[in-house]
Amino acid sequence: MLLVVLSGPGGAGKGTIARALVEGDAALDLSRSWTTRGRRADDIEGAYVFVTREEFEEHREAGGFLEWNEFLGELYGTPVSNSDRDLLLEIDVAGGHQVLEHRPDAVCLFVDAPDDEELRRRLLARGDSISRADQRAEEAIRERAEADRLGYVRVVNDDLQATVSEIQSLIEAARRQV
Ligand code: 5GP
Repeated sequence: MLLVVLSGPGGAGKGTIARALVEGDAALDLSRSWTTRGRRADDIEGAYVFVTREEFEEHREAGGFLEWNEFLGELYGTPVSNSDRDLLLEIDVAGGHQVLEHRPDAVCLFVDAPDDEELRRRLLARGDSISRADQRAEEAIRERAEADRLGYVRVVNDDLQATVSEIQSLIEAARRQV
């Protein structure tokens, strides 16, 4: 079973890409993370399991997460899957690092915006406040460096369809190696 990790700054288009990948690939499931953050207007139905901090911590103590992380003060985690289907994880780079420790064969992709200005513009357009957008843009710089260090493949999302096709080819190539 192949694990595909999709990381990258909020606003780079990960969510849209993840949906397109899963819709276009009958063998790929999208992992549904748990989070303690509140709902956001642009969250698609079923994007997360929204839980309290207590619920999250209880599940974590019971060994219920493949990986988890705290991002800007909120907890996020990938529940353990017992399916043998290929799985797409939309998680941050720190989570990708934990996944690579268990599964060095995971395909790790860093989806990036064409440049920092465009990233900020997309964050503001989706409703982030200026200070939140600045925080995320700062975080993006740190994550990009960490992703490079871990050997992530960087994919620049300037054209959605082209980006999805590029990732589909990378997934196909990884499947041929299994
Ligand atoms: P957002 O609040 O924008 O939905 O997500 C914030 C960050 O948390 C994003 O980088 C997203 O990829 C990451 N994230 C979402 N779910 C998980 C998860 O289950 N584990 C980890 N480590 N990060 C996650």
